[in-house]
Amino acid sequence: MNPGDVISYLEMCSEEGVNLQRGMNYHLRRDYSVILMSLRPNAPYSDRIENDGRFLIYEGHDVPKTTDNPIPKVVNQPMYNPGGTLTQNGLFYEAAQKLKRTKQGQELVRVYEKLHAGIWVYNGFFRLVDAWQEESNTRKVFKFKLELAEDTLPGHKHAKREVSLVHDRLIPPQVKLVVWKRDRGRCVMCGSTDNLHFDHIIPYSKGGSSLVAENIQLLCARHNLAKRDKIE
Ligand SMILES: [Zn+2]
Repeated sequence: MNPGDVISYLEMCSEEGVNLQRGMNYHLRRDYSVILMSLRPNAPYSDRIENDGRFLIYEGHDVPKTTDNPIPKVVNQPMYNPGGTLTQNGLFYEAAQKLKRTKQGQELVRVYEKLHAGIWVYNGFFRLVDAWQEESNTRKVFKFKLELAEDTLPGHKHAKREVSLVHDRLIPPQVKLVVWKRDRGRCVMCGSTDNLHFDHIIPYSKGGSSLVAENIQLLCARHNLAKRDKIE
């Protein structure tokens, strides 16, 4: 799987070997965590992208909706569960603080983004670089800063062609939505709806932007490969 690939919910779950239910999954696997994001207008959390797609600022998660907390959006996002263990917010927060303190090791986070019901985009590997709490509408929320990782996971085999892809930048969700609608969820070359990929028309490494829909298009795996071979 390459950053920018369009996948189904089932493909995402099969890639991670679990049914992904939660947005934040600290150390889902031995050597990385998994985060699910969504920036659509009705998305429950306000995540954002900075520095031309190099950084992702991810908002932490609310308390679960219960009779005690009927409106989670007015309650501080919790560091601890009622039993005293760390919540997912707390786990990621502690990990980021430890990294900053010791300056040793790294926390890799794999990021998936919801495009539509059942349709997801794989955004690639990021490194957790910071975490903090901030005021948002009279309550405290967690923010996590993630930096696009240049390298893939140690020990994971990737073909040469795949490694070069990570040098592209994260395409903002708003841009992805515009492109998805414009290209009608199909490869612009052949109309295929299978194995789609958000392609930089001019690659980032050659000066193409990730931030404008005019430089992004949908390609199927076959046409994506054909194009990449031509460029390299
Ligand atoms: Zn095609």
